[in-house]
Amino acid sequence: MKGLAGKTALVTGASSGIGQAIAIRLAQEGCNIGINYRRKLEEGQYTEKIALEKAREAGKDSVQTLVVQADVSQEEDVLRMVNSVIERFGGLDILINNAGIQTEFPSHEVPTDKFDQVINVNLRGPYLCARETIKHWLANERSGVIINVSSVHEIIPRPMYISYSISKGGMGNLTKTLALEYANRGIRVNAIAPGATITPINEAWTEDLEKKAIVESHIPMGRVGTSDEVAPAVAFLASDEAAYITGQTLFIDGGLTLYADFREAWSA
Ligand code: NAD
Repeated sequence: MKGLAGKTALVTGASSGIGQAIAIRLAQEGCNIGINYRRKLEEGQYTEKIALEKAREAGKDSVQTLVVQADVSQEEDVLRMVNSVIERFGGLDILINNAGIQTEFPSHEVPTDKFDQVINVNLRGPYLCARETIKHWLANERSGVIINVSSVHEIIPRPMYISYSISKGGMGNLTKTLALEYANRGIRVNAIAPGATITPINEAWTEDLEKKAIVESHIPMGRVGTSDEVAPAVAFLASDEAAYITGQTLFIDGGLTLYADFREAWSA
C-alpha cells in the first residue's frame, strides 16, 4: 500500500495474535518493525523470524526489526521502548497500540488490583505510548500515524468484563481526542475494532466447538474472524491510501455490531 515502504512501525503486544499478524503484514509492506513483547523473548523472536521471512518473500529485502521488551503499563518501560525504536531506526512513523488483556468478574466483585491492571494495560499504556510518540513527532516536525486496537466493546457493553468494556470505550475517546488535537500537525489517529477473532485471548471458547458455535450464532456472517483478516485494515489505515481519514474506528467484526437479533423483524 502507498507510503508504507521504508517507514518504521512499533507494534505493542506483537508476540501473538492480532499484534503478530499486524507486525508481519507491515513488514510485508516494507516497514521496519519494533516488535514489543512483555514476557518471553522467544515469542518476540518468533514474530521477528516470520516477519523477516514474509518481507523477503514480498521482495522487501531492506526490512529490519527490533525485538523490544516492555510492559506498556509501566511508564519507564514505555519510555525505554519508544526511545530504543527511535534510536535503532532513526525515527518512528507508525504506532500500533495493540497490547491488551481482560479479566472476568461480576462487576460488583472485581478486585481493585485486577481492575487497575486492565485499565493500565489497555488504556493508560496506549496513552503513554501515544504521548511519547507524539512528542517525538512534534519535536522533529514529523508526521505520523497512530492506530489503536480497540474492540466491538468500544460500543457494546460487556457484562462480567467491566474493566475491559471501560478500557475499550475509553480507547474510542482517546482516538478521537488525539485525532482532533493533532489533526493540523500531520498526525492521524484511528482505531480498529475487531469482533470475535481467533487468538490466544479467546482460548476459553475457540477450542470448545459448542462454545464457539454459540459465539458464531451472534455473528451475522456466521463465523469468527482471524488475525489475518484484521491486519490488512491496519495496513490500509497506516498507509497514505488513508491520508484523509482520522478520528475513526473501523469495525472488523463480520457484522457483529449490526446486532444479529434484529435479523428478523420482531413484529409485523
Ligand atoms: P493476545 O492475548 O494474543 O494478544 C495480546 C498481546 O498483548 C499479547 O502478545 C500479550 O503478551 C500482550 N500484552 C499483554 N499485556 C501486556 C503488557 N502489559 N505490555 C505489553 N504487552 C502486553 O490476544 P489478541 O486477541 O491478539 O489481542 C490483541 C488486541 O486485540 C487486544 O487489545 C484485544 O483487546 C484486542 N481485541 C481482540 C479481540 C479478539 O477476539 N481476539 C477482539 C477485539 C479486540
